[in-house]
Amino acid sequence: MTQENTTLITGGAGFIGSHLAQRIVRSGRKVRLVDNLSTGRRSNIADLLSEHAGRVTFIEADALDTAENDAVWKGVDQVFHLAASVGVQRVIDDPAAMMRNNVLTTDAVLRAAGRAGASVLIASSSEVYGRCPVLPLSEDAELVYGPTTASRWSYGMAKALDEHLALDLAQRTGLKAVVVRLFNTIGPRQIGHYGMVVPRFVEQAIRGDALTVYGDGQQTRAFCDVRDVTDALARLLDVPTAIGRVFNVGSTHAVTIRQLADHVLRAAGAPAHRIQHMPYQDVYGAGFEDPHDRLPAVDRLDHAIGGFRPAWTLDATLNELVALARGTDPDRLAQTAQPTPLEPRT
Ligand code: UDP
Repeated sequence: MTQENTTLITGGAGFIGSHLAQRIVRSGRKVRLVDNLSTGRRSNIADLLSEHAGRVTFIEADALDTAENDAVWKGVDQVFHLAASVGVQRVIDDPAAMMRNNVLTTDAVLRAAGRAGASVLIASSSEVYGRCPVLPLSEDAELVYGPTTASRWSYGMAKALDEHLALDLAQRTGLKAVVVRLFNTIGPRQIGHYGMVVPRFVEQAIRGDALTVYGDGQQTRAFCDVRDVTDALARLLDVPTAIGRVFNVGSTHAVTIRQLADHVLRAAGAPAHRIQHMPYQDVYGAGFEDPHDRLPAVDRLDHAIGGFRPAWTLDATLNELVALARGTDPDRLAQTAQPTPLEPRT
């Protein structure tokens, strides 16, 4: 590896991007982060930039605007394209802006990666499956969307377009592109402003508020720690046979949202009854559809990277998030917040 081996991460100051940057820099590469700070935050990468001065650099810019900027792409042989408008609330607030931003940016980044001869991983989403009822969701499943009058589906459709762009360029031009569908990912630095359930529940529990469980809380999700997710992404882009393929990345341990609330209350030492059910339409307006169950099949990923074994249990991550939200001394936390091995996957 030469000094020129540089990994570009778009959305690098975001929740997942900043953890990925930490993982990549540990492998000895230089890392260049591009982020327009729309949902990313400087504080997410402040420590990384000071600890690895010279090896990690940050460019505050839109990934779309930097796609033709040679200085940004100099020495880049690997790209993780994570920059996107995300979060259910944001999508519902302005679906048109989200679609334009996500698809045009992905198109520009893919083409720039092609010109640079770099391998590129694009972050798609479990939303691509829409309301596909066959569980676990496997990469070749039919995609099932609701009507276009329900704006939620626009996000999954935009991500599906991103996937088509990447796979088409991989097939026709030999672009070294890999697509990952990220399922519910949790961990430090995730923010709840745009709807994500875990940071919202943790904040509510710490404040002593009731946890807002939408609907009857029987909908299920599987939550994977961001450090397990980013480790898998880093490994996957090094696998030549992954090129031109789609991979689910996520946990296979499903919980109902009601159970999740119980876990969070326990982690926070809060009374078990502190739960408030809210009808979906009070939160997101009439016509909102929430996929009832979401669970990935991860055999393809497991096979490609020679074993996908998440190290963080849900409770280990929640305990850490509660401690962080309480402002626990980070040095003490680093010693206590060790991943606990999971039981074998079923
Ligand atoms: N949810 C909830 N309370 C909240 C936020 C979300 O009950 O304060 C529910 C939401 O309706 C969904 C689940 O938690 O069923 C996961 O929501 P999130 O937005 O985190 O992820 P996604 O819907 O994309 O899986």
